[in-house]
Amino acid sequence: MDTKNQTIPSPADCLKEAGETKELRLKKAVFSDIPGLLKDFFKSGRVYLVADENTWKAAGQKTEDAVREAGIPIAGRRIFPGEPRLHAHYTHVKELIELFKSLPDYPSCTPIAVGGGTINDLVKRATFELAMPYLCVPTAASVDGYTANGAALLMDGFKQTLPCTAPRVIAADTDVLAQAPAYLSSSGFGDLAGKIIAGTDWIIAEKAGSAGAPAATPIDPLAWNMIQPGLMDNLNQSVHAADGDSEAVRTLFNSLAVTGFAMQYMKNSRPVSGSEHLFSHVWEMEDLSLNGAPVTHGHKVTIGTLSATAFTELFFADPSGPPTAVSGWQRPSPAEREAETAAAFRETPGCKAVVKTALEKMVDSKTASDINTLCRDSWHEIREKVLERLLPYAELKALLAKARCPLVPEAIGLRRKDIIATARKAQMMRNKYGILDLAWDMGNFESILAKLEASEVYLR
Ligand SMILES: [Zn+2]
Repeated sequence: MDTKNQTIPSPADCLKEAGETKELRLKKAVFSDIPGLLKDFFKSGRVYLVADENTWKAAGQKTEDAVREAGIPIAGRRIFPGEPRLHAHYTHVKELIELFKSLPDYPSCTPIAVGGGTINDLVKRATFELAMPYLCVPTAASVDGYTANGAALLMDGFKQTLPCTAPRVIAADTDVLAQAPAYLSSSGFGDLAGKIIAGTDWIIAEKAGSAGAPAATPIDPLAWNMIQPGLMDNLNQSVHAADGDSEAVRTLFNSLAVTGFAMQYMKNSRPVSGSEHLFSHVWEMEDLSLNGAPVTHGHKVTIGTLSATAFTELFFADPSGPPTAVSGWQRPSPAEREAETAAAFRETPGCKAVVKTALEKMVDSKTASDINTLCRDSWHEIREKVLERLLPYAELKALLAKARCPLVPEAIGLRRKDIIATARKAQMMRNKYGILDLAWDMGNFESILAKLEASEVYLR
């Protein structure tokens, strides 16, 4: 599609396309609206609150008070400890399922998730398994996952994205979001910045798909317009979210919510995640922690976005054509690919699943050759389209610095050489075509990594 002439749908229009979420209420003093939202969008009379000690203080008590004052009975509450930071572990989902099932009026009771991405993901999956709609009261603009129809949960020893139904209603209080800890707002900012790569990867996928690349769906104009045309304005307007600026936090939350609506509309994550999220998926599988606390999703995506931006810039650096392949590099056979993927993930419990994906996403040599020819023949067109969307690395880094995001691998407990190793692993994961796959199919993946490793600018 033409990625230059775009119209931006309003958040209300995006909500209409969402499918699962029926209402997003984002305002000051939202708590007094909650009883009305319960009445308008849910059948049952009773509610069950889920929070942790921190989110209870931020918004749980206020939610309970508003509900109680309106005469709506409280069926119970589960407040998880605030310290250490709650892990999105599937065992908590199981606990919530048992709790909800034990309620006398199950399944007509309405769960309310009061919290950040983790609390929301736990409730989202538990209510999905029980087919119970729920209401979400977010306490930080920390992720795009509030409105996504998936939840990232630690199950069978590794982080997996499990299918879910997005919350039916979101009631977000702008004062609560503005008062959230700075690291949570900067996490949300990093998750939003990742949409730049989601866009450039989609351009690449659409082109490569026309030469037979797998999992390379063409750009859907509506999903594209929901996110891409307004993205840079939204990033610029939300850059002070971590400073507690309530207008900035409002823009950030709205923008993140809309990306989830695009995902609900597309029924997949193509519009909202690309190679930057593949980096973060690797670190999620490895349960990356810093000083004993899990690194937030958004901070992993931030370093993933810097890494993917550096990789994309290096790929498209030369106006005259793609980088040369490493001399002597040959496409591995499926058996060799299986062995190298198994070796790369040998210490990760999810190894088997990744090996399967890595084999599924391998194209045959005829398709690789077609992709190669197409990329060389349309080099100027692809390069121009991608660079028109890509925020140059230096500008991206300056923007992330203003938003108080991590800027170097060390800030999330990694070294430069870990980024190189992660890029190799990221390319093996998820069958969703992007810049890493294009470089791999062109045979120049390793030569770009070598440039990245030797660079005096990138990831420093
Ligand atoms: Zn994300």
